[in-house]
Amino acid sequence: AVQEYDAIILGAGAAGLMAAMTAGARGKRVLLLDHAEEAGKKILISGGGRCNFTNLNIAPDRFISNNPAFCRAALAGYTAADFVALVQKHGIAFHEKTLGQLFCDGSARAILAMLLEECAAVHIDLRLGQRVTGVTHDGRFRVATAHATHTAPALVLATGGLSIPKMGATDFAHRIALQFGLPVIPPRAGLVPLTFADDALTLMQPLAGVALDCVARAGKAAFAEAMLFTHRGLSGPAILQASSYWNPGEAITLNLLPGRDANASLVALREARPKAAAHNALADLLPARLATALAAAYLPPRTMAEQPGAALRKLAQMLGGWQLTPMGTEGYAKAEVTLGGIDTAALSQRDMQAKSVPGLFVIGEAVDVTGWLGGYNFQWAWSSGYAAGAAI
Ligand code: FAD
Repeated sequence: AVQEYDAIILGAGAAGLMAAMTAGARGKRVLLLDHAEEAGKKILISGGGRCNFTNLNIAPDRFISNNPAFCRAALAGYTAADFVALVQKHGIAFHEKTLGQLFCDGSARAILAMLLEECAAVHIDLRLGQRVTGVTHDGRFRVATAHATHTAPALVLATGGLSIPKMGATDFAHRIALQFGLPVIPPRAGLVPLTFADDALTLMQPLAGVALDCVARAGKAAFAEAMLFTHRGLSGPAILQASSYWNPGEAITLNLLPGRDANASLVALREARPKAAAHNALADLLPARLATALAAAYLPPRTMAEQPGAALRKLAQMLGGWQLTPMGTEGYAKAEVTLGGIDTAALSQRDMQAKSVPGLFVIGEAVDVTGWLGGYNFQWAWSSGYAAGAAI
């Protein structure tokens, strides 16, 4: 049997749910299909289970895209304040953790329940566990599943990016976009731990678990946040942020003494703790395990008073601007987002509709718009989902 709708939305994640409830509230008959057995699985695992659902500092320059201005209209059309109002309407308690990041006090499940409730209230036909076997267009869009064929004048691609394939992420949106002639910017892993080889890894591996504040630079971007040593290299918010701006072959730079002059700090340390062993003195500035590893790598095994100026200067240079070339990233298995995706040049920034295929919309992570860590990616899902939902 062929079932007719005003819109078919593929992917019941953050963006698809927002598009559905927005279109449904305007009286549209909406079919929302997902291959997973549960909607919004990434919402449930997000923010360590508390969902960092938006950020107080949303601004276009905190999103990465071939066209950095593209996201502006959608972000202005549905803002962080709009989403916060929805959260408040549902009585969900939240707090600002750091850097404008808004988290649920309780479980991320409250955010998913809120979106599902909004969808149910406007009679969205949500069907889970649906494998889409084909999409065609003959004036109307036809979506075939193993069970039925559905048609509508509008089709919304909201199947996300490639991150976390174990949770059902696919390149579905990219493939359908290509089928309809929309260009795709080659995807790559973003907000992802970096891996290292050789000497760098030899130093990092024994430090796995050590965290400290730093400024991480990649390209023109710099992030003052925590970093973490891992068994394969580096992670933590500063590194994840920098990873989205890093290109293979390039170096990143880490300042391990943010806000201080590294050279002056070491000279002052030599004066303050002349009799201390170098690693003990360095532990005043750095986590103890890192202090021990750096003392062994950079300084002769003597007291601080006996440290040659040249050795201290070399260490200061490293602490203030550690240049490292990552071997790679931990890939989609560990990436929080996917960079690249459907080229914004093919879409209207007002409603996310394909310029060359009226009625075809692309929203959320499938689009070549990727936010910083800290609630930016969900805000893009809400804003782009709203833009499409309001236009269907
Ligand atoms: P998704 O939410 O991924 O939804 C896509 C949907 O499409 C899924 O339900 C999927 O099952 C379905 N689908 C995929 N392929 C098919 C197919 N072939 N057929 C049918 N259905 C399909 N962002 C933040 O802003 N704050 C956070 O705290 C945060 N934490 C995160 C933590 C982790 C571990 C990860 C991996 C990501 C996190 N993100 C966070 C990023 C955020 O989850 C995504 O940017 C966001 O979910 C993208 O929304 P979307 O609707 O575009 O895609």
